[in-house]
Amino acid sequence: MTQGTHEERFEERRKRRPSASSQTSGNSAGSIASENALPVPFGNQLLIASAPHSRASSFRKPRPPSNELEVIVPAFRRNSVPNCAVNLLNVPDQEEDVKGSGGRLQRVRSFKTTSKGVVNRGDSFKKKSSRSLRLMTTGVDHRDQRGRYLAPEQEGSIHSHNSNAPSYYSVIVLGGAGVGKSTLTRQFMTSEYIDTSDTGGDSGVMTVSVLLNGEESTLEFIDPPDKNISIEELQLDAYVVVFSITDKASFDTATNITKYLRVELGTDRAILLVANKTDLVRKRKVSADDARLLATGYDCKYAETSAALNHHLDELLVGILSQIRLKLSIPVEPVYPIKSPTKEKKKHKGPFSIFAKLFQRKTKKVNYTCDNLFTL
Ligand code: GDP
Ligand code: MG
Repeated sequence: MTQGTHEERFEERRKRRPSASSQTSGNSAGSIASENALPVPFGNQLLIASAPHSRASSFRKPRPPSNELEVIVPAFRRNSVPNCAVNLLNVPDQEEDVKGSGGRLQRVRSFKTTSKGVVNRGDSFKKKSSRSLRLMTTGVDHRDQRGRYLAPEQEGSIHSHNSNAPSYYSVIVLGGAGVGKSTLTRQFMTSEYIDTSDTGGDSGVMTVSVLLNGEESTLEFIDPPDKNISIEELQLDAYVVVFSITDKASFDTATNITKYLRVELGTDRAILLVANKTDLVRKRKVSADDARLLATGYDCKYAETSAALNHHLDELLVGILSQIRLKLSIPVEPVYPIKSPTKEKKKHKGPFSIFAKLFQRKTKKVNYTCDNLFTL
């Protein structure tokens, strides 16, 4: 009976086996399907069909396969470049500065003078003060001895004004035609490089704010058309006389202008003689010595620039402002020339000393006063 019972049981199991094996294989198939779930394209989306997790080797009772589909819709990017315009700082350019904001934005160029020279600390934008806007609209210039704006009620008393107001100075750029006056003036307006290689620049009046060692000043540059200039009536704080090193005639013109300013007009304001186009070194027709002689003779400062390459323009701009401040007895932080480390000279003794003296190189660099734009 017991045997029969065993046989009966065995037979019963054998009969059940195919259905049991089919169930197992079904489970393992379901497991593979869930682990290797592949994305199925559906329109422009990807559908990922996955069955609940089940392991073939598990001793646990496998869960029955589910027919539910888990749909994962990934977020698609339409552009290849992420849209980050919101995070960008909107920096207006010079043209937009004037037109787009209705002339209410003003570029402030920031500089610092250190022992290594002039350091450009970048440009920023600020809203124009009501004073500069009033000057723009009325053209009336009310200033004290130090060039600071005066409110109409303060005009009688020069000492009672707000000393934090930025000073306002007028500078005229003079010189022969084609020497680079307009290119120079346009490049003064911004720290960004302006390419005016083909056209030069238009003449006119341009204004820039300069923050030098923490003190802000507004500089107005007058770049007059080449003919019919009458400067006697203008209230100017500095004169920039430009010539091209490649053009001897432009140097003669600069000489006449300088003579006129100092002798005939009799101005005691700052005059800066500028030798432009120094990039054209092979075409040089005017020597630095001749130019310095002229500058020293008429109590001028001397600078060499390349407006086309924006070379030495920051130094000139800061130099102009420093000269104006110095003439108005406003203290200016000095910029010392960079000293090269001095080598100990070998002292030759005996017969060699004569040859050493004969053939020794003249390394002594002469420091001209007219080259230093940070002293009077
Ligand atoms: P302006 O008549 O004195 O106002 O002279 P412009 O500024 O109009 O310049 C006359 C020409 O000289 C233009 O073609 C400028 O691109 C070019 N120019 C200005 N400055 C320089 C410079 O430093 N180097 C060179 N190579 N060309 C310059
Ligand atoms: Mg011009």
